This record gives sequence, C-alpha cells and structure tokens, in this order.
Amino acid sequence: MSLYGFDLSRLSEEIKPARVILRPGIRGAYAALDREGTAAALLPSNPLFLSRFDPVEVLEGKKRWIKNRRGELAAVEGWRQAASDLLARPMDAKERRRLAAASLKDMNERARTLARLMGLSIDDWRIVNCHGASRIGWCSAAEKTLAFHMFSCLFPEEHRGYLAVHELSHIRHFDHSKAFWSEVGRYCPDYKSLRKEIKTMHYLLCRANFPARFDREIMYFAPAHKK
Ligand SMILES: [Zn+2]
Repeated sequence: MSLYGFDLSRLSEEIKPARVILRPGIRGAYAALDREGTAAALLPSNPLFLSRFDPVEVLEGKKRWIKNRRGELAAVEGWRQAASDLLARPMDAKERRRLAAASLKDMNERARTLARLMGLSIDDWRIVNCHGASRIGWCSAAEKTLAFHMFSCLFPEEHRGYLAVHELSHIRHFDHSKAFWSEVGRYCPDYKSLRKEIKTMHYLLCRANFPARFDREIMYFAPAHKK
C-alpha cells in the first residue's frame, strides 16, 4: 500500500462510494461519512501510525454503521433539497435575527397550546431562543424556562411539534427515562423517527452556520473496531 494509492476495490458494493482521507494529528482510524453519504476511511497521515490500518478493513468493520447513517441522511433528503440554499453557507446576522424572531413566535404559541393539551400550566414560564450549536431545546423547572433553537422555524411542522412535546414532557420528568418517553409518545406517537430526523437537520444547519466548530469534510465519524 503506497501513501497515494489506496486500493478500495475489495470493498463490498454496499459500502461504495468510498474514499480515504488522511489527517494529521490523529493516531487511530475512523469510519466517516460526508454530507453526500460518501464513506471515508479517516486515517492518520503520519506513516508510523498509518501503516497499522487497512482502509478496507476499517470500512468493512463499520458496514452497518455506514448503512444506518446513510439511512438518517436519506430520511431528511426532501427537507435538504428544500433547504439547500440555507445549508450551503452561514446565514448573515440579519437573516439570523429574522429566523430567531420567527422561531420564538412560533414555538411560543406552539408550546403554550400543547401545554394546555398536556394538562400543564406554563402561564408564568418564559419561552426563549437557545443559540449556538449545541442543543435543540432545553427545559429548566428552576428558572421556569423553555428554550427552543433559534432556527427551529426551519424544521417541518411535525418536527416542531415533537420538539415542543419533548421539552414540555421534561416539566414532569427531568430525565430521559421510560416514563418520560411514554409521556412524549402519548402526544407524539412518531417521536422515534422525528427525533432522529430533527437531529440530522439540526446537525446540517449547524454545520452550515458554525463552520469553525464542525469539520468541513466529515458529517459523521466513528472509531474503527480494534483488530
Ligand atoms: Zn430531553
């Protein structure tokens, strides 16, 4: 195996298309996927470490992981097409402010309506935007505050409903216990798929808007199995 000629011809068909990415500063190997769903073996560029890994083995060992992540990308493909403008570049400050205001208005009304349906009293609660790249929403009983992502108005209607139900359910259940999920499921039966999809959408939006915090090439990565 030469540094420039990785032979991926032995790869199973279902893993293709695939490529090799060499990275300085890593010692281990990872299986990775870019935003288009192309698989990659992410290997250390240092030849000392590189010689320990076979990219075909790295990818074959993560075949099921690759299939699942591709499935997650495929599940939001329609939304991705529709939002392709927004996903291609960071939004400017004006656009962010407009989206934050629209998100706050929408989630405020949505959460208050759903709270009544769920038998919760949140009249004295604050509903705010949460910013940044980390969480899509949070709930603080101590501060009587619910927060929803500043870009949440960009998620489809049913995903916004799920988001509101999720955070409202934290008022009764602080954790992600069985009881919590059964409460979520009562008001949002499709929560399992909606949850996965909203995470993927959020991740795609964050990757476009916080380029310093996210890898430009890689969407997902996972450590390769040890031999
Ligand atoms: Zn939660």
